[in-house]
Amino acid sequence: MKVLVAIKPVPNPDERVKVSADGHSVVLENVKMVVNPFCEIAVEEALRIRDGLGGGEVVVVTVGSPSADPQLRTALAMGADRGILVSAEGPLDGFAVARLLRRVVDDEAPDLVLLGKQAVDDDNNQVGQILAALLGWPQATFVSRIEFVDGGARIRVDRETDAGLETIGLPLPAVVTTDLRLNEPRYASLPGILKARKKEVRVVDAAAAGVDLAPKVRVLAFEAAKGRKGGRIVADAAELVRLLRDEAKVLG
Ligand code: AMP
Repeated sequence: MKVLVAIKPVPNPDERVKVSADGHSVVLENVKMVVNPFCEIAVEEALRIRDGLGGGEVVVVTVGSPSADPQLRTALAMGADRGILVSAEGPLDGFAVARLLRRVVDDEAPDLVLLGKQAVDDDNNQVGQILAALLGWPQATFVSRIEFVDGGARIRVDRETDAGLETIGLPLPAVVTTDLRLNEPRYASLPGILKARKKEVRVVDAAAAGVDLAPKVRVLAFEAAKGRKGGRIVADAAELVRLLRDEAKVLG
């Protein structure tokens, strides 16, 4: 079983990012970049699949700046076998990323492609769905359980939906995006970190893919989220209703 995992570096979710003075970007200098948490879950799942089925390969791929090498190495330190960096300068939207990933899928011919359900930097939740559409492959999004059936020819997955869990079956090859409850990613061990330094990371130039990378989505401006106002504890329901009516004026 060959599993391709797409990972995106994102600013550490525990750090506060600031909007640039001109409002056109966010300031990422001195912000630690980490593997998007949902992508870490995807890497973990790929490792469990490979090891559970007693063989195969886990290939991790990222699209973007060569500065993503440390995040690829993190996935390799967790246990992925090799990495691919599709090097591209400038802003890429989800469509461009999916088109580049499609080229990698064409090249690598994996049995399964795992992606995070969303990248927590811009919360787009697009790339997995677009990739599946471009490939014409079955897809399952928001997946919290994967089971191999029919001797590994198909998977049965649980999807987290607003109405509860949905279980569906998919033939392979397929695209799956991971949700939070799928697993708890391991930490890289020291030997894993040392081994990762020597693992192969193939760098390919996005320009060579012959794909139109012009963004279809343009970010007009960034704005810092408004700070929350302090809360207030009220004595009872009657006071709450009075405040909502007389002060907040949200009740008639
Ligand atoms: P998004 O649609 O941007 O929220 O991202 C969903 C998932 O697509 C991420 O969790 C990654 O698995 C994958 N992805 C998004 N952007 C990239 C990228 N630049 N390189 C590799 N994978 C990506």
